[in-house]
Amino acid sequence: MTRAGVLGLQGDFAEHLHTLRAMGVDAVDVRRPQQLDEVDALIIPGGESTTIGKLAAQYGIIPKLLARVEEGMPVWGTCAGAIFIAKDVPGHPHPIAGLMDMTVERNVFGRQVDSFEADLAIAGIGPEPFHAVFIRAPRIASVGPGVTVLAALADGTIVAARQGRLLATSFHPELTDDQRLHQLFLSLAKG
Ligand code: GLN
Repeated sequence: MTRAGVLGLQGDFAEHLHTLRAMGVDAVDVRRPQQLDEVDALIIPGGESTTIGKLAAQYGIIPKLLARVEEGMPVWGTCAGAIFIAKDVPGHPHPIAGLMDMTVERNVFGRQVDSFEADLAIAGIGPEPFHAVFIRAPRIASVGPGVTVLAALADGTIVAARQGRLLATSFHPELTDDQRLHQLFLSLAKG
């Protein structure tokens, strides 16, 4: 059985743990590098990417995370987590893991509309639209050749992408009851 970890340094890791446990998945909060050896997949939650990056560097998480990804461990970054796993984040003041070949821009939706919801068509989870919650969200500004775009807003802004076993979403699937993206992610750990 798959054991899923959620990076619990900062942000809404408790909501991801709640969703995973509601699905019957063995899920644990990961805070120390050694714990990465005890999980088959890792979610990096939303929150503040600056704080997550700073703490991840301080706790020595990043080198171990890179090694586990090299071994094939799936990683999913949601919102701040998507920022943390991007290779390129213009102007980010703290270390990031730099796993996924994409450029992510922070806080692009402006102050007045810094939170909104949208129904998205997402490749790989079936035809029903996914109700997505965006909170001071980033956008995926561009992706490299090995990255597949899974979802975009009506204006073309990329908000979900996949590269092999790496998944990034600008929004927060842990804040709604729809478990399809968590299911898609967990399926990557089995293959
Ligand atoms: N604005 C946050 C950041 O740039 C991300 C917001 C979120 O995760 N909901 O880190």
